[in-house]
Amino acid sequence: MQEKNPFLSKTLFLKGLKCKKLLYLSKYYPNLKHEVSSRTEELFETGNEVNALAKKLFQKGREIPSNETREKQIELTLSFLKEGVENIYEASFFLDSIFVRTDILHKGKKGWNIYEVKSTTGLKDEHIYDIALQYYVVKGCGFDIESANLVHINPDYIRWGELEIEKLLTIKDLTEKIIDSQKKIKEKIEIFKEVLKGEMPEVDIGGHCFENYTCEFRNYCWKNIPENSILRIEAHWMDRFELYKKGILVLEDLNQEEFEGNSKMFIDAYIGKKVIFNKKNIKEFLESLWYPMAFLDFETFSYAIPLYDGTKPYQQIPFQYSLYIIYSRDSEPEHFNYIAPPRTDPRKELTEKLLREIPLEACVIVYNEKFEKRIINELSEFLPEHREKLLLINNNVRDLMLPFKRKDYYHWEMLGSHSLKKVLPAVIPEMSYEEMDIKNGEMAMSAYFKMCKSNSPEEIAKIRDSLIHYCSLDTLAMVKILKKLQELTEN
Ligand code: SF4
Repeated sequence: MQEKNPFLSKTLFLKGLKCKKLLYLSKYYPNLKHEVSSRTEELFETGNEVNALAKKLFQKGREIPSNETREKQIELTLSFLKEGVENIYEASFFLDSIFVRTDILHKGKKGWNIYEVKSTTGLKDEHIYDIALQYYVVKGCGFDIESANLVHINPDYIRWGELEIEKLLTIKDLTEKIIDSQKKIKEKIEIFKEVLKGEMPEVDIGGHCFENYTCEFRNYCWKNIPENSILRIEAHWMDRFELYKKGILVLEDLNQEEFEGNSKMFIDAYIGKKVIFNKKNIKEFLESLWYPMAFLDFETFSYAIPLYDGTKPYQQIPFQYSLYIIYSRDSEPEHFNYIAPPRTDPRKELTEKLLREIPLEACVIVYNEKFEKRIINELSEFLPEHREKLLLINNNVRDLMLPFKRKDYYHWEMLGSHSLKKVLPAVIPEMSYEEMDIKNGEMAMSAYFKMCKSNSPEEIAKIRDSLIHYCSLDTLAMVKILKKLQELTEN
């Protein structure tokens, strides 16, 4: 552990806003952090790419290299300022133990303009603090500031042809808000410096551990929370942190009488290890389906900077599907799948292959229809030549999630959830996502990005296999669950 001192960087300041213990741990015990997920790394890289684009709006700037020492960065900034450089990227300042870097510092008529670049589609509270701290330090160093701004992604931008950076990025002038928050910034700085001079603050775990992002010290702070604790159950039907504050750690400790409706049922089912089965409703649902049945699941990626024509920032682009077709009650399912080659616009090829494979009169079974229907709709808008057929597919979509969402089938192990990840192991115990390399959609997206960046044929082949395995399990899960419901309603 380094010697205690009040030094604060902008990153540390922002961590202090989330949790004082996080500030302390980040500064003095960084080795206790858990490994950063590939998704976090991607978000970081995206931030850097958006930052690089924003710099193009302020041409001919000079950059302060981040690999220099802080002293050198400050010295270089001062020399650029003296030289009259009009745009400085990563300008660095130090005031009263606080070090900040501004993404872009632009010289205006009445002073300097601060631009903080974010890959979000709008303003968040933490951005105000972020920019306000920069304002506090730069102004405190004796520089006049004309404006303080956020540069963020414009969610309505649609790409056609070359990327239009000035349309992709929106500049929001926050000067007034930033000036108003200066008193608060000063107070926070004082508080955080005191924290850094003292012993590790005692902060209990809570909802703040997940606010905006999952805290990197979660494994450390949560090490004594048992595996079966309610704190490890992500359930919207109970306020797990409120219950924890009341001393309740496991579901068995809950008093059912204090709950009503579904929540009461979830607790009752869990304690009694019950399975709820509404045969009439499930039968009705099954009777609304027909053969051939096509079980369909897409995997998608989304990215801040639209890569293809007709797409918006963060639009979900399908890069993979898995399709099982059952022609009649007694026939075996036939499997088809598609996965886009790396670094190509997958939409046309994916659509045309799907349309060759899926019988147009099929009952299309998905899990959570909102998602698949939206993807098909967006494909139909982009590919008008296939619009009619795609809309026909959408009309024939039936949602297998429905009986689980309505609790027509509820297994105590679902813990109030109707997600496929919870439903599958409860209904078909021999199937689960636990042992797989890719366990959810977010991991599938990360794997796809990794595959796009890779130049190793072996690595690409390995990722492809994992992706195919994952997406196939999602659709095979639907096939098995449906079969199970059919069997249960027959007895
Ligand atoms: S895990 Fe929670 S309590 Fe621990 S440092 Fe992070 S935010 Fe604070």
